[in-house]
Amino acid sequence: MRLSRYFLPVLKENPSEAQIVSHRLMLRAGMIKQSSAGIYSWLPMGFKVLRKLENIVHEEQVRAGHIPMLMPTIQPADLWRESGRYDAYGDELLRIRDRHDRDMLYGPTNEEMVTDIFRSHVGSYKDLPLTLYHIQWKFRDERRPRFGVMRGREFFMKDGYNFDLTKEDALHAYNRHLVSYLRTYERMGLQAIPMRADGGPIGGDYTHEFLVLAETGESEVFYDSAVTDLNFGDREIDYDDVAQCQAILEEFTTKYARTDETHDEAKFNDVPEERRRTARGIEVGQIFYFGTKYSEAMGATVQGPDGKPTPVHMGSHGIGVSRLVGAIIEASHDDKGIIWPEGVTPYHCGIVNLKQGDDEADAACDALYASLTALGLEPLYDDRKERAGGKFATMDLIGLPWRITVGPRGLKNGVVELTSRRTGESEELPPQQAVERIAQIYAALG
Ligand code: ATP
Ligand code: MG
Repeated sequence: MRLSRYFLPVLKENPSEAQIVSHRLMLRAGMIKQSSAGIYSWLPMGFKVLRKLENIVHEEQVRAGHIPMLMPTIQPADLWRESGRYDAYGDELLRIRDRHDRDMLYGPTNEEMVTDIFRSHVGSYKDLPLTLYHIQWKFRDERRPRFGVMRGREFFMKDGYNFDLTKEDALHAYNRHLVSYLRTYERMGLQAIPMRADGGPIGGDYTHEFLVLAETGESEVFYDSAVTDLNFGDREIDYDDVAQCQAILEEFTTKYARTDETHDEAKFNDVPEERRRTARGIEVGQIFYFGTKYSEAMGATVQGPDGKPTPVHMGSHGIGVSRLVGAIIEASHDDKGIIWPEGVTPYHCGIVNLKQGDDEADAACDALYASLTALGLEPLYDDRKERAGGKFATMDLIGLPWRITVGPRGLKNGVVELTSRRTGESEELPPQQAVERIAQIYAALG
């Protein structure tokens, strides 16, 4: 993309409405624009990151054997009356009436709808196990929408639902989700710690939230610092392997890590004192096993091996895709702007032309752009007639992990400059080598 043809409305001033750094930087980097409280347009740069996160979530869900689909945002109230949640959900539920006076709602989550799909089409235990998921906009009329996309009213969420014959099978589905979530967050360059949580309105005894540690997080968390040393890495996973998934769950959830909702001071005090940590965290996902709560209320049964109708065991599993954009920025920025992890960056690298209009510099930038593109990479080329200082400031603000700087002086010696956004370190090298270096970095991510 050439910046002269793009739409990147960066702000010079700090927007006064932003209380936390991710909100401020998303506004300043031209990623989002608020349309009303807690509702945002995703401008091209923000949309690009959102799509990258969505793709990672899809890839990891499909890898785990879960099946993508898409359910609507608007749901009939009658389904929610069946589960009892139409009244129980309270003011967060946006209730709507259509022209025929039918009660509808904008879905805050989809347990009822997916259970209805299930009961309409699945009749036998032989069709199990089954896990369906979608990534769709949700609406919750939050009392205090704030912090930009972190606590919006409209937000983008992956929600998945497993249907299993037995509790044991459903707990394997739970573990599979935990493992796939660990992989998902790591690919986004994040450490998200599974913590024992509270069932809330969805209910259930088995539930973990995934928290990214950050001072601006809304949850208070208590943990054994040893959990921060755990690393998923690129291990081979067989998602059908019950013992392997169970072992990973144990590895990542045995050490003390809880939110204030489930915090147990006595258990916490068993952690050696030097490892006891109290901090704040951003909830970026949650998994639940809730048994037969919805299947019994809504008649979602299958014919079991004994021929008798059996309510299925279910769980639901959510990832806050739009909140993650903010969470990643909270975890990765400096005073100049965003620092995107390579796995989610909107563009793979920036190209800064120090002397736009100089034939040689223009030709060198065009050649770099063509070579990078030919390798399947997406550069963002600042081809505007602007001062170098302004171009650098924009690149630092939008946070692409790598920048190639091209100027007549370097070109005389046959070199360009390759700069890491994270370390600030620069290296001079011939243009083709800079291209190869960037290609290698991204190839290593897989
Ligand atoms: P919270 O406690 O932050 O209100 P929740 O526990 O009600 O969230 P879940 O029902 O677990 O949310 O939804 C799954 C994920 O969706 C959450 O882990 C979070 O990342 C995201 N999410 C929930 N509410 C919002 C919101 N208002 N804005 C953005 N993302 C949200
Ligand atoms: Mg939650």
